[in-house]
Amino acid sequence: MAVDSPPLSQLGPPACERDAKALHFIEETTSHADSVQDRVLTEILTRNSQTEYLTRFKLNGATDRETFKSKLPIITYEDLQPEIHRIANGDRSAILSALPISEFLTSSGTSAGERKLMPTIKEELDRRRLLYSLLMPVMNLYVPGLERGKGLYFLFVKSETRTPGGLLARPVLTSYYKSDHFKTRPYDPYNVYTSPNEAILCPDSFQSMYAQMLCGLLQRQQVLRVGAVFASGLLRAIRFLQLNWPQLTQDIETGALNPKLTDPSLREYMDKILKPNPELAECVRHECSKDNWEGIIARIWQNTKYLDVIVTGAMAQYIPTLDYYSGGLPLACTMYASSECYFGLNLNPMCKPSQVSYTIMPNMAYFEFLPHEPDSFGFPRDSPPKLVDLVDVQVGKEYELVITTYAGLYRYRVGDILRVTGFHNSAPQFHFVRRKNVLLSIDSDKTDEAELQKAVENASRLLREFNISVVEYTSYADTRTIPGHYVIYWELLGKDSANSPTDEVLKQCCLAMEESLNSVYRQGRVADNSIGPLEIRVVKTGTFEELMDYAISRGASINQYKVPRCVNFTPIMELLDSRVVSSHFSPASPHWTPERRR
Ligand code: AMP
Repeated sequence: MAVDSPPLSQLGPPACERDAKALHFIEETTSHADSVQDRVLTEILTRNSQTEYLTRFKLNGATDRETFKSKLPIITYEDLQPEIHRIANGDRSAILSALPISEFLTSSGTSAGERKLMPTIKEELDRRRLLYSLLMPVMNLYVPGLERGKGLYFLFVKSETRTPGGLLARPVLTSYYKSDHFKTRPYDPYNVYTSPNEAILCPDSFQSMYAQMLCGLLQRQQVLRVGAVFASGLLRAIRFLQLNWPQLTQDIETGALNPKLTDPSLREYMDKILKPNPELAECVRHECSKDNWEGIIARIWQNTKYLDVIVTGAMAQYIPTLDYYSGGLPLACTMYASSECYFGLNLNPMCKPSQVSYTIMPNMAYFEFLPHEPDSFGFPRDSPPKLVDLVDVQVGKEYELVITTYAGLYRYRVGDILRVTGFHNSAPQFHFVRRKNVLLSIDSDKTDEAELQKAVENASRLLREFNISVVEYTSYADTRTIPGHYVIYWELLGKDSANSPTDEVLKQCCLAMEESLNSVYRQGRVADNSIGPLEIRVVKTGTFEELMDYAISRGASINQYKVPRCVNFTPIMELLDSRVVSSHFSPASPHWTPERRR
């Protein structure tokens, strides 16, 4: 039932009293975005005034924006590495933050091939929980009745390690799911999941997924929304169902749990809820045994109103596949967040993916925006860039996000490029344009041009004994299969045509490339199974010249032409694929352990 108070402005009538509070908070915070930003910066600088970092830049206790901006440099992760290393090695002094660093969050962004380590403090969990608590009140404005059912969400924890100094290092969602904020969350009828904590927290990814899928099937009539964090994760769940439905339906039919599920707490939970249900088993079997899986989500979970997954940014490549398996259910992108900081939410979550804009919540951190000029790399040291405050960004312009956080990142470049689409009250709304320097991405991996180049160089060493070199290459993220995989097109030059590399050698080249790629990629290959084996497609001699001719015929300048190191334009793909002479897949998994290599 809609309630009337407290009065609200633009968002609409809340579904319940608690929603009213959340929507009121959004209205208040976005209406006073600039003063909230002032308060946030003052709080961060006051509390951290004695830290080594702020002392080094002689802030002398100043908390005003002007002094802050004139004294503190804009930095990247690489600039902060000495401090991060000291903290990781056990230095507990107040280097970045006055409050103790509670753990490191391992970002999917990498540095020197390893995940970046983001320091965090305990109270950040409260800020994350606050942002999560705003999502359903907004969703309830658009989709009524969600309290009458459940959400089938595929949520996972990943492996964690300790730094030499003993701090935990793990992904932000693993940290959140393992926190009391999540584990002992109070009952909320608008936020009931089919997956129990025992399944979400199970460290074995097969057992976790199996149990979550089984719970989702058992409660299929109650499921009103289906989701995962990213689109790639939901598709992985569909693939899992494709591979495991015979066993899943057998479990449902007999009421006896697959013996491969050995985790004691998981078994105990599942044994309680699993009862023989031949009717349900037959119904799931009937759908899954069909050759055509189009609309399978809507066929099995017939009451689903929308899919809750991020399909903006790199995940947009999965929209057609999701549409196929869901039968065109609406896609809701609800929030925009990172290991460094949670940024904001989508106030119109049922809009089309192409229209998604995230409203940055001014209470989460202090935000600045570096005007982004496409094709300009960095900026000269003698002319510091003029950063713009949150409320001063201009509609239509693109910016790189720069944050100052409670956990001790000061004027830190996140690497995301955003375009302003409008304002909600005085808080700007942003379309996520892209992450800087990312060439290839299948899941949370982000491979840049330099990494790809190095991987090609390392792999091509294996061709030396055949007197063969790689003269040109480009790449493509093939997401038509689940999981997706990297495709690298190679044009080879051989001095001795009789001595060409065998399939076995080229397979080893695939593996050598994988070994050279960053740890997030290798984890996706080895532990998460979210990325398929890398493929090399050898193309005919002269193919890259044809590619250049094609680009020039479409207006590229012959002097400035550079081989694109990643392609996704259909005519170019067709040209490349029509010139393929052989294709080779990585024969084994690359090396990966949770421990860092350096
Ligand atoms: P991580 O470093 O693993 O914490 O990943 C954070 C990054 O994921 C962000 O900086 C973005 O590049 C990307 N990301 C997070 N949320 C979204 C979203 N809603 N849409 C597009 N990209 C996102």
